[in-house]
Amino acid sequence: MSRERFYEQLESTLDQIREDGLWKPERLISSPQGGVVEVVGSAPVLNLCANNYLGLADHPALVAGAEQAMVDYGYGMASVRFICGTLDAHRVLEAEIAEFLRTDDSITFAACFDANGAVFEPLFGVDDAIVSDSLNHASIIDGVRLCKARRYRYATRDLVDLDAQLMAARADGAQQILVVTDGVFSMDGYVADLGAICEVADRHDALVMVDDCHATGFVGPGGRGTPALHGVEDRVDIVTSTLGKALGGGMGGFVAGRQPLVDLLRQRARPYLFSNALAPALIGGGRAGLRLVAEGEERRARLFRNADRFRAAMTDAGFALSGAGHPIIPVMLGDAALAGRFAARLLDAGVYATAFSFPVVPHGTARIRTQMNAAHSEEDVDRAVEAFITVGRELGVVS
Ligand SMILES: *Cc1c(COP(=O)(O)O)cnc(C)c1O
Repeated sequence: MSRERFYEQLESTLDQIREDGLWKPERLISSPQGGVVEVVGSAPVLNLCANNYLGLADHPALVAGAEQAMVDYGYGMASVRFICGTLDAHRVLEAEIAEFLRTDDSITFAACFDANGAVFEPLFGVDDAIVSDSLNHASIIDGVRLCKARRYRYATRDLVDLDAQLMAARADGAQQILVVTDGVFSMDGYVADLGAICEVADRHDALVMVDDCHATGFVGPGGRGTPALHGVEDRVDIVTSTLGKALGGGMGGFVAGRQPLVDLLRQRARPYLFSNALAPALIGGGRAGLRLVAEGEERRARLFRNADRFRAAMTDAGFALSGAGHPIIPVMLGDAALAGRFAARLLDAGVYATAFSFPVVPHGTARIRTQMNAAHSEEDVDRAVEAFITVGRELGVVS
């Protein structure tokens, strides 16, 4: 087949994506990330789709922290950690993350995608088993694929199936077994029942790992995440999470856990050994984010008040919502083209909320995923609901 044919095939795949209504447009923002953003070609709009849960993405303290770190350490590290890329500041950030999560230590990566890509392979081998929730984040799925352990999957949040899969793993002769779950399922807005998961894991003497990207900083006491929410901080073996969401939304991921686990990852984790160290600005911004989280009760309270207010009003208006008890509130629409049209009309009405369709969610379950934010006022939330109702009526979704 000719090389030209290769590009023709790409074009036809792209055409098919457009035809199926699955095209994901990227709108251009021309302001800092915040409760309100400027989108090129429209008036300022309410932003309902950032992972900016605590509203810290444009906070002056984080900008100042990043600036100061660049003054102190320059722009880049130009090295992986073990060669000449470890600043004293890296170790301070890692110690602060560990202190916040009440673990022995933590290790940072360029992103949580890398942390999840890194964590399984050095710790689990052919004789081990990984038991994974069917809706876990793509980076967990990829990380597990990179590891030689046997794989078992349980139906999402189904504890009976989890128990059955653990039984199967033991029966197959697994040495160590790791149960891995998202702390919060980001497409649907459900919080994992970590207490019950740990109980089931206990019955089989299995390790437990939580990816807490959509919880770190705002879920549970002190914003310490789903292990704290469920009172199982001592029981969870591995936490992975991100600096790229509630902690300021910059960039960077980490694994937190007991000392030998973190130490071994430093020696063996491939995205750590073969990829650049976190840039100084991200360290400074991340540390400032952690400080604001420590005094963040008011922000967390406002975030959850906004979420409750939006969920109640949208339910009253007749929208089908997914999730519970979390600021991720997906508005279920089903048809991908409808979801795309809905999002476009919302933008005209001053509300920025993105349509999600295949392959990000299963076919036929397209939705507009909204995320509440501590930067919004109650009036903002009410205005968002009004926009949803106006567009919902126009498109025949609600009456
Ligand atoms: C966002 C997210 C990631 C990826 O985090 P990055 O730091 O952006 O790479 C991983 N896992 C979950 C559950 C996420 O929501």
